[in-house]
Amino acid sequence: MPLQAPHPGPISPFIYNAAPGRVVFGQDMFAALRSEIERQGHRRALVLTGREQAARGRSLLADLAGGAVAVLSTATMHTPTVVTEHALKTVRATEADVLVAMGGGSAIGLSKALSLRTGLPQIVIPTTYAGSEMTPILGETEAGMKKTIRDFRVLPQTVIYDVALTATLSPMASVTSGMNAIAHAAEGLYARDANPITTLMALEGIRALVDGLPRVAKDPGDFAARSNALYGAWLCGAVLGAVGMAIHHKLCHTLGGSFDLPHAPTHSVVLPHAISYVAESHPGHLSEIASLFGSAGAGQGIYDFVASLGAPLALKDLGLPYEALDQVAALSVAQPYWNPRPVTAPDVRALLEDAWHGSRPRH
Ligand code: NAD
Repeated sequence: MPLQAPHPGPISPFIYNAAPGRVVFGQDMFAALRSEIERQGHRRALVLTGREQAARGRSLLADLAGGAVAVLSTATMHTPTVVTEHALKTVRATEADVLVAMGGGSAIGLSKALSLRTGLPQIVIPTTYAGSEMTPILGETEAGMKKTIRDFRVLPQTVIYDVALTATLSPMASVTSGMNAIAHAAEGLYARDANPITTLMALEGIRALVDGLPRVAKDPGDFAARSNALYGAWLCGAVLGAVGMAIHHKLCHTLGGSFDLPHAPTHSVVLPHAISYVAESHPGHLSEIASLFGSAGAGQGIYDFVASLGAPLALKDLGLPYEALDQVAALSVAQPYWNPRPVTAPDVRALLEDAWHGSRPRH
């Protein structure tokens, strides 16, 4: 199938799978959750969070009063199966009839993993911009390897977006998480199964984040900017849920799953280089990104944006040893994701060299 170029012209044939989730945007989370649980007829909610958000989980549990049975705060980055197996015991012991995940991609990942194993429905309340809530994708880690599946059984039934919950996300975590969202949309533009709907969502999502993130970085209490960023993150997450990802996500999955690099900062560092790699051979598909970032080159525009917000630019600053680069390149090309520009070990090694040093990309 031909690539869908993000500019006017004849519409190539396409298939668009709309994900059947319900989105409640911008409302008070407590009220929205009570009403969703009542609407869906649940009586025994199990609240899931990460360790740092345990107190928020307990507030939720208290607010739901008789409607919730317990809070489990063991969610961990990259969804280790050992954590999931342990959590399953709580699901069974409490006889929960719905999972309520509050947090970033880690809490939502645990919820998806439990839903896959139990068939329980999910209501999720994202507090970062990672976008997992909108996708039928689950990445799980076992024995140092991250395996990703795409299965509509893990798609949450309801997503509640409450801007107030993101106000505690630090400026730096907001920026890197926002770059994670932008990465979904950017790769969606050149996905093999891209279509006019996902292109529309991708460009609008990036536009909203390019508008919101600098203002959030300056003033984390700016709710107007936060609502733009959250709206953008939703759209970017929907793109990730609808089309396949390419070289950028493959590199980040390798760096996160096998080298334990932090998820959002890794996306932030790698994206300018991955986009530059694709822009070198397919500049037309990324020209709108270049203009959204006000630059001649798409990768360069993203790099300058990240630099202007003070986010990390180099893999060496995330703790990746230089000696690991050969292995990252080898793992990334061993089972590559489809990519518009062929992925070869020497080319990927050169990309990684630039990303490790944090040099400005060429395109
Ligand atoms: P995270 O969920 O691990 O959260 C990062 C840190 O931020 C944690 O310490 C958390 O407690 C804290 N935090 C979260 N929200 C906060 C808030 N509002 N205020 C203060 N602190 C807050 O990070 P993430 O980047 O959202 O998610 C990363 C995970 O999600 C990875 O495992 C990644 O693979 C997965 N992911 C999956 C998909 C998918 O579609 N399956 C998409 C994106 C990310």
